[in-house]
Amino acid sequence: MIHFENVSVRFGGTTALSEVTLEVPAGMLCVLVGPSGSGKSTLMKLVNRLVEPSAGRVLVRGSDVAGQDPARLRRSIGYVMQSTGLFPHRTVAANIGTVPRLLGWDSSRIAARVADLLEMVQLDPGLAERLPGALSGGQAQRVGLARALAADPDILLMDEPFGAVDPITRRDLRAELRRIHAETGKTILLVTHDPEEALELASQVAVLRDGRLVAEGPPAALVAPDAPDFARTLLGGGQPG
Ligand code: ADP
Ligand code: MG
Repeated sequence: MIHFENVSVRFGGTTALSEVTLEVPAGMLCVLVGPSGSGKSTLMKLVNRLVEPSAGRVLVRGSDVAGQDPARLRRSIGYVMQSTGLFPHRTVAANIGTVPRLLGWDSSRIAARVADLLEMVQLDPGLAERLPGALSGGQAQRVGLARALAADPDILLMDEPFGAVDPITRRDLRAELRRIHAETGKTILLVTHDPEEALELASQVAVLRDGRLVAEGPPAALVAPDAPDFARTLLGGGQPG
């Protein structure tokens, strides 16, 4: 579903990614882990062309993203940004309806979809007309998730989606995501700093270090005694950074 082929990304003198090859099959929930600055967000942004490769190529649903219209590509991929990235002057309902509106859905279809999504992420329907500034961190993260799911994309990119919330809300949101993944079979690429989250959610874990993919496999294999030390340390607890 997503295929990074020998991809490198340079920003001026900085090498953000070096020759990364990784395949994320359809229906997988692939968790990206690695220290700050290791290239996780950059790898994710290649998928929806927020970043372009300096070398190599990125295939989505079998075709090179370089040949695809960026706006259209982005409408087909749900993206939950590192900070929720909600539009501050638009209501919760308008935020969630962003992509459906761009796709030209009529307003009654959008309203029905918004209502369904609020229920799916377990938010009170009464919040629909609020502005994001009036929400708690956990509520805003749920709205971000609902917005990413709005047009039912088959691919979801989630960059530290539950970073800004307390541990209990985090656990809730994680359960929510597991349910959504199990029910819809979406292909999900998720960045997290939380080893417990990685091990609980992942069907596949990819470990980045200084822009290189240093380990990849099912979670159990990456915490096994013969796994690379770096991966084991990162996933075995503690704060990787
Ligand atoms: P992570 O998400 O793992 O913390 P990033 O992918 O954000 O890492 O960044 C990887 C490296 O690329 C870092 O050194 C970062 O400073 C650099 N970088 C990321 N985006 C840009 C950019 N737009 N311009 C210049 N450097 C960037
Ligand atoms: Mg990042």
